[in-house]
Amino acid sequence: MGMESSMRDLKAVVRTIPDYPKPGIMFRDITTLLGDARSFRRAVDELVHPYAGGKADKVAGIEARGFILGGAVAHQLSAGFVPIRKKGKLPHTTVRVSYLLEYGEDEVEMHADALVEGERVILVDDLIATGGTAGAAVKLLRQLGAEIVAACFVIDLPELGGADKLRADGVEVRTLISFEGH
Ligand code: AMP
Repeated sequence: MGMESSMRDLKAVVRTIPDYPKPGIMFRDITTLLGDARSFRRAVDELVHPYAGGKADKVAGIEARGFILGGAVAHQLSAGFVPIRKKGKLPHTTVRVSYLLEYGEDEVEMHADALVEGERVILVDDLIATGGTAGAAVKLLRQLGAEIVAACFVIDLPELGGADKLRADGVEVRTLISFEGH
């Protein structure tokens, strides 16, 4: 199967839930993709394929859906896995970055010893929208001296500009499928 029809199939297994978690949001639910064996494998294979052959030391996944995809990606690349979590969940000494949400702000954390300077890291999450979350994750990784190989997402919402923002910040961004709107 060609790349285009294969990605069309992937898009077809993402479930869209209008007005969740609040009016006006089209929630792109990947549980239907994860639950389909061929789609899950295809998504992971496509995310990793440019980075096979020892190009990364670690994969950093963003809580919570980035853990599922990032764990599979790390396994496939024979890389270590590092969790990036919402504040207060990691037990050891952490580094922390806060970022703005539509209303208010939030914080993400990593263990301070999760990486050593110069390690090559791939960042993984299910979806990039405004790029606020991934941008904070990039800051955290750079604080610890990581070399960011790429940031990978199954879904892009290009109208929200997050992928372009990350690219402008010098990060290679890989996404598999995109949806119009928010
Ligand atoms: P952002 O920080 O705006 O790029 O938002 C990205 C984070 O929020 C990711 O962890 C996504 O899982 C989640 N997210 C944002 N918008 C949506 C959406 N429309 N459907 C599903 N998840 C979303």
